[in-house]
Amino acid sequence: MLRFAPSPTGDMDIGNLRVAILNYIVAKQKNEQFLIRIEDSDTKRNIEGKDTEIMMLLEKFAITHNSVYHQSEHLGIHQKLAIRLLQEERAFICKCTEQDLEEAREIAKKDGIAYRYNNRCEILTNDDYKKLKESGEPFVIRLKKPEQDIINNDVIKRSIKTAPNEVDSFVIMRTDNTPTYNFACACDDMLSNISFIIRGEDHLTNTPKQMHIKSALGYDSDTKYAHLPIILNSDAKKMSKRDEASSVKWLFEEGFVPDAILNYLILLGNSKTPKEIFTLPEAIEWFNLETISKSATKFDITKLQFINREHLKLMDDKQLSGLFGFADADIGKLAKLYLEECSTTNELEAKIRPIFKPKNFDGEWGEQMRTIESLISEAPAFQTFNQLKKHITKESGLKGKNLFKPLRILLTGAENGPELSEIYPLIKSYILEVAS
Ligand code: GLU
Repeated sequence: MLRFAPSPTGDMDIGNLRVAILNYIVAKQKNEQFLIRIEDSDTKRNIEGKDTEIMMLLEKFAITHNSVYHQSEHLGIHQKLAIRLLQEERAFICKCTEQDLEEAREIAKKDGIAYRYNNRCEILTNDDYKKLKESGEPFVIRLKKPEQDIINNDVIKRSIKTAPNEVDSFVIMRTDNTPTYNFACACDDMLSNISFIIRGEDHLTNTPKQMHIKSALGYDSDTKYAHLPIILNSDAKKMSKRDEASSVKWLFEEGFVPDAILNYLILLGNSKTPKEIFTLPEAIEWFNLETISKSATKFDITKLQFINREHLKLMDDKQLSGLFGFADADIGKLAKLYLEECSTTNELEAKIRPIFKPKNFDGEWGEQMRTIESLISEAPAFQTFNQLKKHITKESGLKGKNLFKPLRILLTGAENGPELSEIYPLIKSYILEVAS
């Protein structure tokens, strides 16, 4: 089984979305189940409604799942598993206060060495647990550090060895008897028998801890990991919330379509794809995690714009017209004429809407526009642009620039754009509304 485990603590960013897409693709390729686990164990950081928002976004990308649950539903299980580790003396109780730890950190800093927990509470076991609980004195539960190096044969980052001291005896249950991220995550991966975990490389240091938790709990199935390189912004810094393009919501607001965002994120850092423009079902046919570069990749909005334009070209005409409030394939075709100069649906909308809005007759060409407007309103419907043009010239004497400038403004609300002969057949059934 594969999973996507988002935290409902903020807007979904493109890094999270890439993780969801790639886990989904690999699940499909392996014909395995795909689980969504909302990681809401750190209750203070949860933001109401973000879980529903994440699910809705996944739906927009047609990323379907076999099951979904909130991690907090497993609180009782996490507590029981922690007690089991205490009973088996793989974990111990720690009464160190934040002040004790701070002092130890300061000393390590002064000595120029990396801080490690000094194991001074390692003598406190399950017997002390009951007494401490009754007394109300705060304590945490720590997992004893491993005895051997932990080796993660990462699919992308290759073999990574972590020494026991680097894993350290870390906290698995907080003073409020809730699990830490690493403990909840590892327990749940174990309980769901997650066989392959694809996630961002910011989790690389969590992986040995989670591997250690699972092995301490006696889980002996091998879990494969793949850590995706970080995404950089145009200043070559890690993309963060400060970069608006990192937000999936922002990309939608700007007029990028789901198929294009998906396409771009699958392509990111992956130069060996057989095609540049593709759909999710196509990617499932050939996607290979091993061709993803180990190093960070720059987010390139120009490339995303190019991909977006290509997907808009491929979109069904009638579906495309729906984005502008029509259900008419001709309006979709009309929008596609503007793809020479536009790459997002917002840019297209800025071209299509003015065509159907009342025109401004106060400008330089107002008088000619009035003449043409009245000719059109009285004339029969012309099939071709040539017929329309001939009729106007015949009745008004307007030709050349004196015909085309006002006619273009009257028909499109703009001074420039695609050929009128291509636009006209697509708007002719709205001509009275348009030419006014
Ligand atoms: N909840 C974690 C996050 O959103 C992901 C955990 C994981 O994939 O293991 O970063």
